Amino acid sequence: MLVKINTSFCKGCDICIEFCPTDVFEQSGTLNRKGYYVPVVARVEDCTGCRLCDLLCPELAIVITEEQGNGDVVADVDNDD
Ligand code: SF4
Ligand code: SF4
Repeated sequence: MLVKINTSFCKGCDICIEFCPTDVFEQSGTLNRKGYYVPVVARVEDCTGCRLCDLLCPELAIVITEEQGNGDVVADVDNDD
């Protein structure tokens, strides 16, 4: 799985950190342009693709993408632009 956070949308609510059942996200000391601390994808290898974070993120900032067999990315988002 690929887990992307569109950091420019993030409001630093930490819902994703709190509710991910496999602890994929972690707090970071990085502020986005709006002044919110954005989480980081710390353990992408633990992602099961349940999409709970995608559903719960109030800012629609998280995109979960399945990698195809050849490793190509099906979809992606730009970060912080
Ligand atoms: S749930 Fe969304 S808005 Fe909240 S910290 Fe995670 S990515 Fe940011
Ligand atoms: S899809 Fe599920 S397991 Fe993967 S990061 Fe989101 S909440 Fe965690």
